Amino acid sequence: MSRRRRIRIGLKGKLSLLLALLLAAVVAALSAQALSGIRDDQQERLERTFARQAEAANLRVREAFLTGERVEAKPFMEKNGQRLAVDLGELSGMPVTLYDTDGVLAGTSLPIQPRTDASDALAYTAQGVSAYITEGDALLYLAPLYNADQQLGTVQFHASLAEQNAFYERIRDLFLYAGLAVLAGGFLIGYLYVHRQVNVIRRLNRAAQQIGRGDYLSRPPVRRRDELGELADGIYDMSGSISTSVSQLNAEKRKLMEAIARLSELERQQKQFIGNISHELKTPLTSIRAYADLLEMYGDDPELLAKARERIGMEAARLYELVEKALQLSAMDVYDFETRSEQVELAPLLSEAAERIRVKADAAGIRVESQLQGGIVWADPDNLMHIVLNLLDNAVKYNVPGGKVTLSNRQASGDDGSARMIVEVADTGIGIPPEAQARIFDPFFTVSGDRSRATGGTGLGLSLVRSLAEKQGGAVRLAESGPSGSRFALELPVAAPARES
Ligand code: ADP
Repeated sequence: MSRRRRIRIGLKGKLSLLLALLLAAVVAALSAQALSGIRDDQQERLERTFARQAEAANLRVREAFLTGERVEAKPFMEKNGQRLAVDLGELSGMPVTLYDTDGVLAGTSLPIQPRTDASDALAYTAQGVSAYITEGDALLYLAPLYNADQQLGTVQFHASLAEQNAFYERIRDLFLYAGLAVLAGGFLIGYLYVHRQVNVIRRLNRAAQQIGRGDYLSRPPVRRRDELGELADGIYDMSGSISTSVSQLNAEKRKLMEAIARLSELERQQKQFIGNISHELKTPLTSIRAYADLLEMYGDDPELLAKARERIGMEAARLYELVEKALQLSAMDVYDFETRSEQVELAPLLSEAAERIRVKADAAGIRVESQLQGGIVWADPDNLMHIVLNLLDNAVKYNVPGGKVTLSNRQASGDDGSARMIVEVADTGIGIPPEAQARIFDPFFTVSGDRSRATGGTGLGLSLVRSLAEKQGGAVRLAESGPSGSRFALELPVAAPARES
């Protein structure tokens, strides 16, 4: 973290310094150019001035030489040097000193003799070339004096460079201050500008960290019309796609977890089912085996024979029922049974079911009543018969002698407003204890082992009824139950669901 912060500060400092140095370098380059231009210009002007003055001095000295006495150059200079120097001083407006051809001082307009040693420069003028000597702010210009090819001597002008140098230094200082100001200003402006950009980068960074925490963006972190803006849009788009992918992954994970939970529940139920059914199968088999053993020993006992026939028949029937129901139940759990639903005229089917149960009911001294209405349901007729028979069978089994079973049907509307048909099986039997009511549809659940055993129940009937009812878009529930009897309600769709029609 601290490393990152250092880099960020460095970036600000570095970029601003770079900008400031660049600007300062530009100012320095421009200043150097301008200063050298000024120097050249000053030099050129001086040279022109001196050349003009040398020309004028030449004219004046030559005129004096030609119009005066006929003497050699050296005595001429010796004699006229001082006067000519003063003349030339007035003429040029500068102090002037004259030398003869041997470089000996011949005269000067200065109040005192010049102290500068001009011998090197005089050697140049002896060869006909002009020369400069600079000493601090003072500049000496020496030029040869001629009459045709004959050298008369050397003229030396004393000029002061103080003004020029002062001007040059003023300009140089100006550039220096301007350079420093540009350096400071450039750094400041650069710093402020980079600071703003870095702030934008910080916001983008914060947005990236926010996405990292799983808190996705609701809008781009920055709105700009440059590369940083494009980056912000990119981060926003990325956040959107990550969010979508993550929620898809989460949804899939949830589905997977649900599927795993369903599978383990199914596995648990199957294990329980197998355990239960093995146990249930063993009871009648034990009974049958016991009678077989008894018959082997006392095969000629007519009383035992009659009892054994009855018990073995009963146990075999129980075994058969158990196996058949178990097979049906497990098949429905494992395979998605295709129910062949169709439009079924309800009243005839219910009448037939009532007739089929009547034999058993009569034997138990129980009356069966029907209160039927016409109507059509959408169901598999075989399954429907199975459901109704199971409900009627229970109503008889768990009834009391002299009791009554009522089978009825009526129109109703479902939760979604669709037309439904309700088939009700009511009895005046022993009822179901409240604590058992929620579990009677579970496989192998019986209210009390003894009671069920006595009536030959397996605890699979209602479980099968519920599976069959739900397979054809219906539902079954215990509508009410108490000491004076129970009422089961089967709800069925009246028409085929939209996708089947
Ligand atoms: P069973 O084969 O034992 O009848 P069911 O699944 O049909 O199994 O019923 C489960 C339990 O619900 C029964 O053991 C019984 O105690 C109770 N039961 C079912 N129907 C009735 C009813 N009409 N009256 C009283 N008890 C009932």
